Amino acid sequence: MGLQGKYTAHIAVAASAVALSLAAWGATVLTNGEAAARADSGASAGQQSGGAGGSAGAGGQAKEPAQVKPVKVPESIAHAAEAGGTAVNITIDDGPDPRWTPRILDILKQNDVKAVFCMVGPRAKEFPDLVKRIVADGHRLCDHTVTHDTTMDKKSVAYQRQQILDAKRMIEDAAGGAKVEYYRAPGGAFTPQSRRIAAEAGMRPLGWNVDTKDFERPGSAAIVNTVKHELSNGPTILFHDGGGDRAQTAAALEQVLPWLKEQGHTFSFPVRISP
Ligand SMILES: [Zn+2]
Repeated sequence: MGLQGKYTAHIAVAASAVALSLAAWGATVLTNGEAAARADSGASAGQQSGGAGGSAGAGGQAKEPAQVKPVKVPESIAHAAEAGGTAVNITIDDGPDPRWTPRILDILKQNDVKAVFCMVGPRAKEFPDLVKRIVADGHRLCDHTVTHDTTMDKKSVAYQRQQILDAKRMIEDAAGGAKVEYYRAPGGAFTPQSRRIAAEAGMRPLGWNVDTKDFERPGSAAIVNTVKHELSNGPTILFHDGGGDRAQTAAALEQVLPWLKEQGHTFSFPVRISP
């Protein structure tokens, strides 16, 4: 049965996660959380450059060894695109899958589009060659937990930590060196604690603005239409390469990626450090 039995819960939670993200689209409109994160990152960037300038100016007086502060990953849920403007982020969840992931990778390559793949840990462990191909093709990795438990927001913090960190290790082992840069809770079941656990492990919590509902298999035309009608919500679009037959997803991507280009959109990755 795999992941499919869990999609009913996925749908219910997804609705609220989308509602959270309505304000994120555009160059200037930010949610409160994102605005706060931007302010935070701006402040810390200022402190860092101020500190560096200070020690450079002090010249020989500076006795302390130069310390490079590790860049802090915000705990807020990212929706914006690194490239800003009207760039969009393609995100692909629940794989890797030996049948559908290679097909989707081919379509992305044909369209010269980079995406984020949110992987379930044991699936990454089972198909390490797919994880390595994803990395080699220039895509980014995202932690989508060990068991895709869409009720993990109701579970203990220890459980959430295990789900997140065990999956991260499985994905990174499979990737052979590449880092996992994002964390997406199954069904959007984030908690403040899980966001912190992810951020402290270097993974930015990742939301979405457009849920194509491709896992319901509504037909490729319906998936394409959802993108066209809901893209005004924001730049991060959710597809799936795992959890069932993804032929409709592949067909929809073949149509919607060229359409996005025709509309003047470019493709980016979700923000990690700021805003
Ligand atoms: Zn999922």
